[in-house]
Amino acid sequence: MGKGEFELIAAIRERLPPAGDNIGIGDDCAVIPGIEYDTLITTDILAEKVHFLLSYYTMYDVGYKACAVNASDILAMGGEVTGFFVSIAIPKQVSDSDILEFYRGFSECAGPFGVTVLGGDTTASKSDLFISVTATGRVKHGHALLRSTAHAGDIIYVLGRLGESAYGLKLLSEDHAHDRKDPFVTAHLRPPLYPELWQKIRSRYTITSAIDVSDGFLGDLFHILEMSGTSAEINADVSWSAVSSLPALAQTGKITSETARELLWRGGEDYALVFTSPETISESGILAAGRIVNGRPRIMLRENGDIRELDHRGYVHF
Ligand code: ADP
Ligand code: MG
Repeated sequence: MGKGEFELIAAIRERLPPAGDNIGIGDDCAVIPGIEYDTLITTDILAEKVHFLLSYYTMYDVGYKACAVNASDILAMGGEVTGFFVSIAIPKQVSDSDILEFYRGFSECAGPFGVTVLGGDTTASKSDLFISVTATGRVKHGHALLRSTAHAGDIIYVLGRLGESAYGLKLLSEDHAHDRKDPFVTAHLRPPLYPELWQKIRSRYTITSAIDVSDGFLGDLFHILEMSGTSAEINADVSWSAVSSLPALAQTGKITSETARELLWRGGEDYALVFTSPETISESGILAAGRIVNGRPRIMLRENGDIRELDHRGYVHF
């Protein structure tokens, strides 16, 4: 890709006809309006050597993650998953039994959603393994949670874990044989989703916007700000350990507090949810991280009484 991914998608979008009554490019899912329910559709590619290496992912892990990253986008829209389509381009070094392992992992993740794979496509690949998964979902008509509807005054919440997947990836990159039961490694290979807690929150509180964290907390929060035309203030002094074990790890001296913070805020592939609400929500597993404020899209950090602008880009420096 010559340009960045987001500029390219924006250029594609400009050249396409408008989406009409549908919500098209720009959110976690497309929304196709229905009568009682609206249909949600999302698709994500996992490319070998880009998203995963088979030296430390089993095919089971690849299958699990391919399901999780797509289910996460449906959850981020406030929807329930209704089905999956799986397309695979298989190179000769990947056997049929490898592919069946992939489906075992996929089904392990899909099972709790009460849905299965409804179709797909299979072809050969000349080089690497490519997997494209489409997930479908549904949400009560007009109730999809968008990125574009956060308001000044809303509180910014995190549901799920932050930075643990990125630290797991760091461990695996340094040692492909790293203990697979290590919770950080598990967070990377099989990202946890929290459909029940999220459902409970949605049923009790007004949620104004949501996104799932694939690019890092700051990067994905920035998508909400861009689409909502607002600014955010994040509070460094809240209890980030409610959503990450990295602050505790920094206290043991295993990583520096600087690394912990980088991973926590910029590490990707957590599949936590970032959402906004005008209400005070005190539930275990959820952190109030800051507030939406008026202003151009940017992220300000409050810390020890100071306030400064943060670079929102999803870089992780080890
Ligand atoms: P996510 O991380 O939630 O999966 P992405 O960053 O992959 O979202 O995509 C952002 C938006 O751009 C989504 O609405 C997605 O459907 C859209 N998109 C991505 N790639 C393309 C493409 N090649 N053509 C059209 N739309 C695309
Ligand atoms: Mg997403």
